Formats: sequence, structure tokens, C-alpha cells
Amino acid sequence: MATLFIIGTPIGNLEDITLRALRVLKEVDLILCEDTRVTKRLLSKYEITTPTMSYHAQSKLAKVEKISALLEEGKNLALVSDAGTPCISDPGMLLVYQVREKFGDQVAIVPIPGPSALVTAFSAAGISVAEFTFLGFLPHKKGRETLFKEIADSKRVMAFYESPHRIEKTLESLEKFCGAERRVIVARELTKIYEEFVRGTIAEARAHFATHPDRIRGEFVVIIEGRM
Ligand code: SAM
Repeated sequence: MATLFIIGTPIGNLEDITLRALRVLKEVDLILCEDTRVTKRLLSKYEITTPTMSYHAQSKLAKVEKISALLEEGKNLALVSDAGTPCISDPGMLLVYQVREKFGDQVAIVPIPGPSALVTAFSAAGISVAEFTFLGFLPHKKGRETLFKEIADSKRVMAFYESPHRIEKTLESLEKFCGAERRVIVARELTKIYEEFVRGTIAEARAHFATHPDRIRGEFVVIIEGRM
């Protein structure tokens, strides 16, 4: 029986990969990558020479058919994204769904857990959370305002991913809808050299980035505490 492994890879620090992930990446017939150049940096660090093929959000049906044909031949495949856990705001969801639909129990879909920016951010956020809501990336236009209203009304902690291009605008909108005093944690560049946790009110987080424009770089996870 063929197997499709879904493998978590580092979100910055290339040492953050499990022994099992490395073994499976060595053993599979082919690695499906969001961007083969990014994955090759990881593979070359660990001297893994397994062939790679791109699979990303824009991949055409023909690519899915090729992947299906390989699984039919009994090949074992691994799916990775550029960073973190595939399918978490990353390509792969549709592929996993289609493989499950087409092959049922004839292809094993096996997760190999690894880092995810969301969980990494929560692990050191320093808040007492029993539950939270993950919003992925916020919509850029349609539904954005409605979502900010939901965040403002929510008693539950919420978290989302954000890019450096939008972080200031997003903090501005959070202040507009939630008020300046709502508390946030902005986790930046997790596991990398310039890792940073900005904790405080929304107003304080905005002031922090206004006074340190050099820190409006890299990748961000925003955690916003619930309404009191
Ligand atoms: N699948 C990935 C995961 O499991 O975390 C998420 C991929 S998503 C396309 C990329 C977003 O994740 C970035 O825009 C950022 O919001 C967040 N992210 C990824 N790596 C990060 C890091 N090292 N520090 C902070 N946020 C990160």
C-alpha cells in the first residue's frame, strides 16, 4: 500500500525537525514541496537526496493526477510546505482531501508532526489559555471588517497569521474595533535570530513598532486576548 506522509518542517531554525521526519524524507520516493528551492536548503543540510516535485496552491489538476498515478504505482510520497505544518494556512488540504476521496483506505495518509508557528507562539505567549480560535490569515477586503467586529466581541482568545506589509494596519484596525487597552501578544520571527514577543496593550504594541520600524520585518503571529 502506498503512503502519503504529511511532514512538519522548521519555521526558521533548521534544527527544529524530528528524527522521524528526517528518516521518512530519506526513505520516500518523492517529496512534494511548496517551493523546491526552499525545501532543498533543508534537505542539503541533512544530506538528503530524495527527488522533489513542486506542489502548491496554484497546482493544476494535471499535477494532482500525476500524484495519484504515483500512489497507484505504490510509490511513497511526502508532502512538505515551505515552513511548519502543511495544510495549516498552507497548501495541501485539497490534496489530502482528494487522495482520501479517491483512494479511501488504499493509500495511508500519515502525519509526521513538527513545528507550527501558531503552537510555537502560544507555547511561550505567557497567557493562561484553555481554548482559543485560530483565524488563519485575515481576509484583505471582503469580510475583514466583520471579522474585526467578531474579534472585538469575542470573550475567547483569538490568533491569526500576519505579514510585515499589513501588521501596522492590522494593529490600527484592532485598536479601532477593540479599543487601545485590549491586550495582545505579537510573536515575530519565531525560532530565528530576531525572535521577539511584544506583549502589552494594542496601543503599546503599536507604539513599539512605531519606534522600532526595523522590527516590522519577518513573520508574525498575533494573539489577542478576549473581551473581559
Ligand atoms: N504552515 C505554517 C505553520 O504551520 O505555521 C504556516 C504557513 S503560513 C503560509 C505563513 C505564516 O505563518 C506567516 O505569514 C506568519 O504569519 C506565520 N509564521 C510562519 N513562520 C513564522 C515564524 N517563524 N515566526 C512567526 N510567524 C511565522
